[in-house]
Amino acid sequence: MDLKSNEPFWLLKNGLLASYPSLQSNEKCDVLIVGGGITGSLIAHQMIEDGYTTILIDKRELCNGSTSATTSMLQYEIDVPLYELIEKIGKKGAVLSYKACSDAIDTLEKLSKMIKSNAGFKRKKSLYFASKKKDTEWLKKEYQARKENGFEVQWLGEEQILKKFEFENTYGGILSRQGASIDAFQFAHELFMYNVKKGLKIFDKTEMVKVEEYKGFNLVTVDSGYQIKAKKIIYCIGYESKNLLKENFVNLKSTYAVVSEIDKDKFKNISNTLVWNTDDPYLYMRTTDDERMLIGGGDEDFYDAEKRDALLNKKEKEILKNLKKIKPDYHFYPDFVWAGTFGETKDGLPYIGEHKKLRNSYFVLGFGGNGITFSVTGMEMASLFMKNKKHPLSRYFKFGR
Ligand SMILES: Cc1cc2nc3c(=O)[nH]c(=O)nc-3n(C[C@H](O)[C@H](O)[C@H](O)COP(=O)(O)OP(=O)(O)OC[C@H]3O[C@@H](n4cnc5c(N)ncnc54)[C@H](O)[C@@H]3O)c2cc1C
Repeated sequence: MDLKSNEPFWLLKNGLLASYPSLQSNEKCDVLIVGGGITGSLIAHQMIEDGYTTILIDKRELCNGSTSATTSMLQYEIDVPLYELIEKIGKKGAVLSYKACSDAIDTLEKLSKMIKSNAGFKRKKSLYFASKKKDTEWLKKEYQARKENGFEVQWLGEEQILKKFEFENTYGGILSRQGASIDAFQFAHELFMYNVKKGLKIFDKTEMVKVEEYKGFNLVTVDSGYQIKAKKIIYCIGYESKNLLKENFVNLKSTYAVVSEIDKDKFKNISNTLVWNTDDPYLYMRTTDDERMLIGGGDEDFYDAEKRDALLNKKEKEILKNLKKIKPDYHFYPDFVWAGTFGETKDGLPYIGEHKKLRNSYFVLGFGGNGITFSVTGMEMASLFMKNKKHPLSRYFKFGR
């Protein structure tokens, strides 16, 4: 099969998992969540657990934003190396951020078990290898920083990488114990369905077009003209937050992913490992639970969706050429290729917190290669926000930092 598609693999694999009504009456609630991707699903779960009446709206079908395009590697490792993050924000914040992402993986495992998820959560190790000889120096420094701060890591030389993973032309790397992968699209849908049974109200094809303050409440008008009166709003709107908040807090990037045909044998020595390298932009890969290889990379600045998608063929070639460097004899047969947009911040950290422009509101914007794990941390943070309390990470993830 050599079918190519600009639609992300997860959308095609899963089809329409659930459908919800659009808003056709006025409503009121304790918490309104705007945005129904993986972040919205996690925050909605937390709000229902905390006992709030909760409504969630999305202007598309649920999970049709970046959640449908993600490669869903669940990593404690942030795009900015730990030693560099320590230099940028200090040891306390940097180590706390890495630990939060590590804990997030454990939380997702627990949640998957609790809701009896079929979204293929699988624990994996993670290999971060040097693609150039000169990168070994800083990667060893990174290895030391992680080891000193209690992360379970092992240094593998190039011979060990060759033996274990059959990757050629690497210059050593860090093998971490902590990591996992999941089908985030399916998982988010499952979590929504679980919470709908517990009282969560969902309206899709419902766009927030206006928000105003009304007697201490937020009054939200949606595109059908109906209104929702909410004590608090939690914005989980991903990269489209750029439309709401005009300051320059995130650089939008286009990123590309290719998934291979199913092959039970070919990928078996990386089926338990997430892999990424020190290239800029980096190459990243993992296997899927239906035994395909999923590779991403080729990131570049985002201008518009048309320009992004026009590069699909070029980017597919670029990604496969980079794969050839470590797997010269591999015959990779692509089944699907797609592009997605994501955000990159100056310190690799998310924006989770209040914004001075919008009162009684909170943002959970998990950007970058750790978008999903950051959103899990956002659950705890949003829960504290509802109780007017601060989280130890609030000062590192806040706007205007
Ligand atoms: C190709 C690719 C690979 C990635 N790989 C990884 C990875 O390996 N690991 C990882 O952790 N992260 C990865 N990411 C990032 C991760 O996918 C994102 O961080 C995550 O999907 C963001 O989810 P979200 O729910 O915040 O945003 P989205 O899924 O974009 O959801 C936001 C929702 O808000 C809705 N919305 C926006 N405005 C409004 C409005 N006004 N009214 C109503 N609804 C609105 C949108 O319709 C959308 O459904 C990757 C991203 C891409 C594109």
